[in-house]
Amino acid sequence: MDIPETMRAMVLERTGEPLVERRLPVPRPGPGQLLLRVRYCAVCRTDLHLVDGELPDPKLPVVPGHEIVGEVVAAGEGATRYSPGQRVGVPWLGWTCGECRHCREGRENLCDRAKFNGYTLDGGFAEYHLADERYAFPLPERYGDAEAAPLLCAGLIGYRTWRLAVETTPIVDLGIYGFGAAAHIVAQIARFKGQRVFAFTRPGDEEGQTFARRLGAVWAGGSDELPPQELDGALIFAPVGALMVEALKAVRKGGVVVSGGIHMSDIPSFPYALMWEERVLRAVANLTRRDGEELMALAPRVPVRTEIEVLPLAAANEALTRIREGRVEGALVLDCR
Ligand SMILES: [Zn+2]
Ligand SMILES: [Zn+2]
Repeated sequence: MDIPETMRAMVLERTGEPLVERRLPVPRPGPGQLLLRVRYCAVCRTDLHLVDGELPDPKLPVVPGHEIVGEVVAAGEGATRYSPGQRVGVPWLGWTCGECRHCREGRENLCDRAKFNGYTLDGGFAEYHLADERYAFPLPERYGDAEAAPLLCAGLIGYRTWRLAVETTPIVDLGIYGFGAAAHIVAQIARFKGQRVFAFTRPGDEEGQTFARRLGAVWAGGSDELPPQELDGALIFAPVGALMVEALKAVRKGGVVVSGGIHMSDIPSFPYALMWEERVLRAVANLTRRDGEELMALAPRVPVRTEIEVLPLAAANEALTRIREGRVEGALVLDCR
């Protein structure tokens, strides 16, 4: 494939401002890197936190986007894992040091020097993307390019959030607060594992509750309601700290509440009694390559179906606005071809 000199990209130049369409030089792959022709990139709430200036020290200007589906068009020195023409997916985690204490303990998601696509590295809201081949995944064949994109963050972070919950305590009845892109994937995994899903949306969001029931939730209601029975665990995918407390009220003794978000409003103070009976409150940061391998093996077995709406690359700002307003069922995906 002929690689042009420049590419179209949606760029964040200053936080608090909309993305702007720019022509940027197409990067050349260095050692261990792949140049991808981006086909689709899904849009995540984290992109919104980045644009709003809620994440510290982004690279600026930066191309956002960390749910990238692309085709390998060139490989740098020593990058032998994939061949030109192969389809790969690229997530949020873009590089780790391999040397710090966290990396050596197998917790590369906590790496002190980690780099992230669409935040401290340029991401996928562009026609081309440079990826470290070690942090690119082969994608299950049953998924089309656009359908696969939400697996790369909504799916991966959702899966890790769910995994940390089930590793903490046995779960049959699972609450999910914030029924957006991550929840719609996790709900399918939870049902596949024999769990019953209780969905919590913004109060009064009947469309969201209908969507959750359609995905198999046994109950759907507002986040200000208590479920009809005690839950074993709850996952939080909305950036609202008060939900951590609401969820603690809903889980049984020894139950767990896990937040999947990268940014959240402050958690209000709450009575110690809500935690005392060995309830666990925890949070997920980033992902590991193991999460990616596990999810890409599991998703086609469920099979997870992603509900997507495709918008042109130039509509990235519109996509962010819709996520802000909660006007999305499933995931929004940008067509970068
Ligand atoms: Zn490290
Ligand atoms: Zn994300």
